[in-house]
Amino acid sequence: APDNTTVPHEVRARHAELCRELDDHSYRYYLGRPIVSDAEYDQLMLELRDVEDRYPILVSQDSPTQKVGAPISVDFAEVEHLVRMESLGNAFDTEELSAWADRASAEVPVDAYLCELKIDGLAVDLVYEKGRLVRAATRGDGRVGEDITLNVRTIGVVPEQLDESVRPAPELLEVRGEVFLPVEDFAELNRRITEDGSHAPFANPRNAAAGSLRQKDPRVTATRPLSMIVHGVGAYVPAGHSEAEGGRGVDAPASAPEEVKLTSQSKTYRLLGEWGLPLSDRYRVVSTMDEVREYVSYYQAHRHDPAYEIDGIVVKVDDFALQRRLGSTSRAPRWAIAYKYPPEEVTTKLVDIKVGV
Ligand code: NAD
Repeated sequence: APDNTTVPHEVRARHAELCRELDDHSYRYYLGRPIVSDAEYDQLMLELRDVEDRYPILVSQDSPTQKVGAPISVDFAEVEHLVRMESLGNAFDTEELSAWADRASAEVPVDAYLCELKIDGLAVDLVYEKGRLVRAATRGDGRVGEDITLNVRTIGVVPEQLDESVRPAPELLEVRGEVFLPVEDFAELNRRITEDGSHAPFANPRNAAAGSLRQKDPRVTATRPLSMIVHGVGAYVPAGHSEAEGGRGVDAPASAPEEVKLTSQSKTYRLLGEWGLPLSDRYRVVSTMDEVREYVSYYQAHRHDPAYEIDGIVVKVDDFALQRRLGSTSRAPRWAIAYKYPPEEVTTKLVDIKVGV
C-alpha cells in the first residue's frame, strides 16, 4: 500500500488544493452565496475521494470527506447541539443505492424503509422544553451551530408551543428539519426585492432561504415567506421524566405506563405531527428495495410536484433499534442515504449572477 513516501508531490499538492477549495465553497454555500453549482462541488468532492482512496495516508479528520458543514461565523452566538447533527451519504445511481441497502441488510434484518423527499433547504435544529420553543440553531459543523432563535420564531409553521390536545408535550424534544422557501414565494420575493431595489435577486430558493435565515435583523427574516418540514429527532425525554437521558429515549427505563417511546422514524413522525410540528405528507414506508426504487423513479418524473425544490430522495431504515445498531461514520449515519437526482441544468453562470444575502 502507498505510504507517505510514495505520494507524488503533485498528488499531495492537488489534495491540499481540493481541500482548500471545498472548504471555501462550503462556507460560501452556507452563507447562501455559492460561486459554483452543486454538481461542480460534488465533482470536486468525488475527485478528492478518489485521491484519498488511492492514497489513504492523506485522509485526516480535517478533510472535507470526513466532516460536516462549514465553520460557523461570528455573527451569531454559538449553540452546542444536544445530539450531533449529521450529513448524509450519497448514491448517484441505483447500483449505489442497492449497495447501501445490501451493506445495511448484511448487518441487521431490515424490514421497513422510510422514503422521503430530500428538500433543498438548510438544516435547522429546534429545542422544545416542556413544549415551549427555547432555541433554534443552524447545523454549523454538526456539533456547534449558530443561535438563530429570533429568526426561526418568524417562521409561521414553526410552533412556539407544542400542541397538547392529543397527548402532553415531552419534557425535552430536539427536532431537526429543513427550512426552505417555496418555489412560488421565491419568484415573488425576487420580483419584490428587484422592484423596490432593496436587494439583488437570489440565484435559487436555497440561497434565498439561507440568506433570509441568517439575517441579523429578524424583522427582515419576517418579510421572507420561509417554511419548514421536520425529518428527525435528536435528544428526547418523554413527558413525566425529569432527568435528561439523552438519545432518543429508546433505552429509557419503563416508568409511567403512558410514557411515549420513539421506536421508529414513522412512529416518531406521527407523534411530531400530533404535537403540531410541520411534516411532509409525501413520505412512504415500504418493505422492499423494489418499492424504494419505485419511489425514487416516481419523484424523478414528478420532481416539480412539491411546492419546494428537492435534490433527491432520502431513504432511512425505519426502526430506531436497527438505526442504532447500524450507527454512523464520522459524518453520516449508515442507516440512511441520499439518492441525488442529476442536476437539471449544470449552470456555469452562477458567478455572473449578482447574489447577496
Ligand atoms: P447533503 O445536503 O447532501 O445532505 C445532508 C442534509 O440533507 C441534512 O443536513 C439535511 O438537512 C438535509 N435533508 C433534506 N431533506 C432531508 C430528509 N428528508 N431527511 C434527512 N435530511 C434531509 O449534505 P450537506 O453536507 O449538507 O451538503 C453537501 C451538499 O451540499 C453537496 O452534495 C452539494 O450538493 C451541496 N454543496 C454545494 C456547494 C456549492 O458551492 N455549490 C458547497 C457545499 C455543499
